[in-house]
Amino acid sequence: MTAVDGDPRPVLEQRLAKVRERVAAACHRAGRNPKDVTLVAVTKTAPPPVAALLPALGVLDLGESRPQELWRKAALLPGAICWHLVGHLQRNKVERTLPLVGLIHSVDSWRLLAAIDAVADPSRPASVLLEVNMSREPNKHGFAPEELPAVMPRLADLRNVHARGLMTMAAEEANPERCRPTFAGLRQLRDELRSHLPGLHRLEHLSMGMSDDYEVAVEEGATFVRIGTALFQGLGEEGA
Ligand SMILES: *Cc1c(COP(=O)(O)O)cnc(C)c1O
Repeated sequence: MTAVDGDPRPVLEQRLAKVRERVAAACHRAGRNPKDVTLVAVTKTAPPPVAALLPALGVLDLGESRPQELWRKAALLPGAICWHLVGHLQRNKVERTLPLVGLIHSVDSWRLLAAIDAVADPSRPASVLLEVNMSREPNKHGFAPEELPAVMPRLADLRNVHARGLMTMAAEEANPERCRPTFAGLRQLRDELRSHLPGLHRLEHLSMGMSDDYEVAVEEGATFVRIGTALFQGLGEEGA
């Protein structure tokens, strides 16, 4: 796709309207309330001036997949933004990342959970989602689905971490319908895990669905969709 020349704002506005419309239609098909689905604009390919247009267009939830890029954009963009880390977090980057983020979608090991618990401020517990490698691709991060039942009781040992749900990335498919079993599987897994949850942990959220498959994910219960390409493709040198 070629770069978009001129003012990116109207293009972004149009693309946002389309995504929101499709989310609303998917909610309608599934008998859900569109208010229960939060659009996270994943800005990893958007230059900061393009990302900075989002709050005025009503998007306050922004996501980055690399901690360093999140640090960089968080310093450049206004404070009202709720930042979501959606990619792998190394333990040595936890301390610098935690104060900047509202939600970490990509907690993929017990060791990382423990590291976050050790660093988080008790007066501001860290909200996290547990990433699940539903498609079992070896190059993907995440807990294996069968690992999670044993993790649930251990959540009781965490003082400063609040497990708010599960996240997954579906395998790339030409036909998004083929992602449906992955998304339905994440929801079922969550429902099963819920019966042995200690304390505050409710697993109320499901983060699933990206540019190519978000409508199916919403039909299957996503409460967060993580959209990059459908909003930012061609809008700036980093996203061309
Ligand atoms: C890049 C990214 C997205 C957005 O993907 P698009 O296909 O560009 O919408 C979502 N989630 C994660 C974890 C990502 O790294």
